[in-house]
Amino acid sequence: MNHCLPCDLEGVEPARIVHRDDVWSCEIADGYDVPGWFVLRLRRHAEGWSGPTVEELAEFGPVSQRLSAAIQSAMGATGIYFMSFGENHPHFHFLVVARDADLPAVSRGAAILARRAHGRDLDASLAVGERVRSALAAASI
Ligand SMILES: [Zn+2]
Repeated sequence: MNHCLPCDLEGVEPARIVHRDDVWSCEIADGYDVPGWFVLRLRRHAEGWSGPTVEELAEFGPVSQRLSAAIQSAMGATGIYFMSFGENHPHFHFLVVARDADLPAVSRGAAILARRAHGRDLDASLAVGERVRSALAAASI
């Protein structure tokens, strides 16, 4: 079995888990712990857009919408990026990144990934994660 970072997130400590249901999970991943950055992933290992089932993908939309709303509510973020490359980690997942209103234009879009080099802060990430978890819980019916 090959090492798979998204699969390994299944075993993270509860403080890193922002959302988890039977199919989808969203966590703060080691190495990507910039405040406002999350990994939304299919819980089972499936690769690329052909990997997930139609049923799994049908749940992706509502989960993503709720997660985006919760992040915006918790952080006051003006934008939420969903990035998926599938190069280093083919497991179906997205890097979900909150974008602040005051982020310089030159750092917007894919350029925001450069923040990983100097913006990691696990404690601040976990604090944001707690606020997002609370916002999700408050929005649940
Ligand atoms: Zn995997």
